[in-house]
Amino acid sequence: MTARTRFAPSPTGPLHLGHAYSALIAARAAAKLGGTFLLRIEDIDQSRARAAWEDQIYNDLAWLNLSWPTPVLRQSERLPRYAEAAAQLSAMGLTYPCSCNRADIEAAAGAPQEGVPQFGPDGRIYPGQCRQRSTKDIQPTDVLRLNLKKSIDVIDAISFSETGPLHTGTHVIDPEHLQSSVGDIILVRRNMGSSYHLSVVIDDADQGITHVHRGADLFEATQIHVLLQRLLNLPTPIYHHHDLIRDDAGKRLAKRDDARAIAKYRADGVTPQQIRHRVGLD
Ligand code: GLU
Repeated sequence: MTARTRFAPSPTGPLHLGHAYSALIAARAAAKLGGTFLLRIEDIDQSRARAAWEDQIYNDLAWLNLSWPTPVLRQSERLPRYAEAAAQLSAMGLTYPCSCNRADIEAAAGAPQEGVPQFGPDGRIYPGQCRQRSTKDIQPTDVLRLNLKKSIDVIDAISFSETGPLHTGTHVIDPEHLQSSVGDIILVRRNMGSSYHLSVVIDDADQGITHVHRGADLFEATQIHVLLQRLLNLPTPIYHHHDLIRDDAGKRLAKRDDARAIAKYRADGVTPQQIRHRVGLD
């Protein structure tokens, strides 16, 4: 099987050093494996995605000497495919509609208990007020959630291989841990037609991605991706979660951190070679 890696930014802000690091690692891995490096634009959140940021992504990556096959897959053009996958999960009886807003979830969450996690990859773990609702009664203002307990009940043990430096090895996913630390994630967000988790799983499979390289902040979310792959009968890639690039004070870089934007470095006359050096890839 030919190796395929990918870099999958959201065009909601400038690329910063952390993005450059992810993209370079994925491109290098493809080169080393004699495979292909792909670029994917994750723009399902149309309220935040901007064409100008997308153009800047192409521009910055080309400046870093990266190249990729075109046309580039854009998630906003794939909503029917995500709807089909969500319908598949619904037909398996694994989804329910949910009308809770953030305040409802906070109110239902109750007092923190020692040793019980309150937050997962998507923020506050959903307490389950809408869990008994039926998907056929979904309203236009509802989101669609995955019933995690039922999902776990229909699959066997699941695991994935991780080659990143922080968690190298085979990870068997513990159903109890999944329930307590991830919970009923949103599959289809309001006004979005999908969610990050659903889209990323479908696209990695449809694009034949064999190796996923991304930041360590997504390590926990990988459990849900592997679960979705198993439920939808899709292959599981090999994962590599890399360390996060931090600023000189040790703070994780965020997209809003314009000072660290690649575009800013370029404007200051920094070379691609110096960027590679700054992220430790010389
Ligand atoms: N669009 C995601 C981001 O920009 C990428 C996540 C992934 O690589 O799976 O954080």
